[in-house]
Amino acid sequence: MEYQRLIDRILLETKPLAKNGKVASYIPALAEVSPEKYGISISTLERQRYNTGDHDVLFSIQSISKVFTFSLAYARLGHKIWERTGREPSGTAFNSLIQLEHEHGIPRNPFINAGAIVVADILLSIFPDPKKVLLDYVRELANNESINYDENVAFSEKASGHRNFALAHFMKSFGNIQNSVEDVLDIYFHQCSLALTTDQLACSFLFLANDGVNPHNNRQILTASQAKRLKALMLTTGLYNESGDFAFRVGMPGKSGVGGGIVAVIPNLLSIATWSPPLNEMGNSVAGFEALERFTTYSGKSVF
Ligand code: GLU
Repeated sequence: MEYQRLIDRILLETKPLAKNGKVASYIPALAEVSPEKYGISISTLERQRYNTGDHDVLFSIQSISKVFTFSLAYARLGHKIWERTGREPSGTAFNSLIQLEHEHGIPRNPFINAGAIVVADILLSIFPDPKKVLLDYVRELANNESINYDENVAFSEKASGHRNFALAHFMKSFGNIQNSVEDVLDIYFHQCSLALTTDQLACSFLFLANDGVNPHNNRQILTASQAKRLKALMLTTGLYNESGDFAFRVGMPGKSGVGGGIVAVIPNLLSIATWSPPLNEMGNSVAGFEALERFTTYSGKSVF
């Protein structure tokens, strides 16, 4: 498969679509990012890497970090994690408060904000220094020691994160947050601020294409069954309220973030990451979504 020619072509074809979206502005630091940026990267289990466009520019991975934190917590807690969060699509916005009232502070799934905040709380109960553990984990998965948090983005989100504070306090009132809200959100805002390139992001998700084994050092990160279940969650809940359409049009388990990144995997084959900041109304990258649809269409490869 000529992946290089394929992604060069897809980038050219889909770049103009970015003008149909809007860069996220509710986190002030994200609003400063150029809407023109666009990168695509593929990393394969055969150790090939293919890159095009702005593949070497760091960007804020935002909600994509929820896959890393969930994976860390899931490996430790196993099925007990389902006592703290559900695993159904929410049908509401990623930062919605409404369902939580009816469902007694148990978030629908770990990829909406409420679920990710519970996962951050779990990490804080397990590890004395969860931010360091998470950073080491992502560096190991990406096989890259230079990866770091962007303190400017973390600070900007903390200053404007009223809804996330509301979610955390609300869940604490139901007993589903065990540590201090301040401490839990400090982890959450930092995980969202993780800055990766598309190349690093594609590399860091390869373990999910490899039955839970990190191909860079052969360490078992998740059991094959856990990796299967995590990918199922990505397929059903990974693209906010557009997960069904992503499964339908693209056919890969994926995860998006409001920084404009999307990453997706094809088991036993590859991981692919896109980054184009302008978002559609659901919060997903307009150009990235279309690029991934074209990738599975042109290559004939998907999970279906
Ligand atoms: N840090 C963002 C927030 O809490 C994450 C949103 C996202 O990427 O979905 O609003």
